[in-house]
Amino acid sequence: MTNSLVSTRPVELRRRAALTPDAVARANRDLATATPAEVIQWACDRFWPRLVMTASFADTTLIDIATGVHADIEVIFLDTGFHFAETLNTVRLAMERYQLNLTVLRPDPAAPDLWAEGTTACCAARKVDPLDRYLATNADAWLSGVRRADHPSRADAPIVSIDRRGLVKVNPIAAMTDAEHEAHIVEHDVLVNALQLDGYASIGCWPCTEPSTDGRSGRWAGSGKSECGLHL
Ligand code: SF4
Repeated sequence: MTNSLVSTRPVELRRRAALTPDAVARANRDLATATPAEVIQWACDRFWPRLVMTASFADTTLIDIATGVHADIEVIFLDTGFHFAETLNTVRLAMERYQLNLTVLRPDPAAPDLWAEGTTACCAARKVDPLDRYLATNADAWLSGVRRADHPSRADAPIVSIDRRGLVKVNPIAAMTDAEHEAHIVEHDVLVNALQLDGYASIGCWPCTEPSTDGRSGRWAGSGKSECGLHL
């Protein structure tokens, strides 16, 4: 496990993307009916070893599929300092099961928190900036577990895109429905964060997550916020 202490200084990164807009459009056509494993293989073929994957550890569906394609794929966990014990335990169990090539990114100890400066600044300092900083020097492309079924704001999530950093972003399970997701978990005995059994449909940091039965409604509940900024 690698620990990275990361400054809170914002990263201004916009690089020349590794794919042209035409290539992105072609990839989305070609991969429209591909399986998640086929999408990950496509990404590995083009971007390895400068390819990483983020994981929230609400479950290990994407990890399960991706490590089946490439056992050494680098998995990034953003340790905000505010995770539930159940989430940290899921990380531990995943390390045991998959022998993950795990990189843990942590904010500066002096990073602002939600009580001092609000949730926007807290997410920026504890999630977005650490990931931006790491991706700036370590990746040309990244995989995320975003699914269109997560939330209406994600309903049009593409399989392949160029993100605001200029990096290629790949969402291998974007098209996976809730039913398909649950079926994969059962069929492959995928690790599931114990909080899901306590009614947490989506799991983030403990100060900002409430039990919910529908998608991401328990995240920053009542605030109008539905994203931390990683996927914007
Ligand atoms: S989800 Fe909440 S506690 Fe976690 S980084 Fe964002 S504002 Fe801070």
